[in-house]
Amino acid sequence: MTTPPRYSEDLVELDVDGWLLEETPVPGCAPCGTCAVKRDEAAKAGDWKAACAAARGIRNHRHGHRESV
Ligand SMILES: [Zn+2]
Repeated sequence: MTTPPRYSEDLVELDVDGWLLEETPVPGCAPCGTCAVKRDEAAKAGDWKAACAAARGIRNHRHGHRESV
C-alpha cells in the first residue's frame, strides 16, 4: 500500500504557524533562552497557543540597548 502525500496539507498549516515561531533568541540572553525552550517544548507537544506565546515573549524582549542589571 502506498500512502498519498497528504503531508503537504499539514506543511501548509505548519507554515502559517511557523512564522509566528520563528523568533530567534539572542545568544546569551537568559529570558530569550527560557522562552525558546518553552516554545520548543510547547511546539513538540502540539500546544501552539503556548508556543506562540513563548515566541511572542522573545519578540517582545527588546535588545536595542544593553542594560547592566
Ligand atoms: Zn532577550
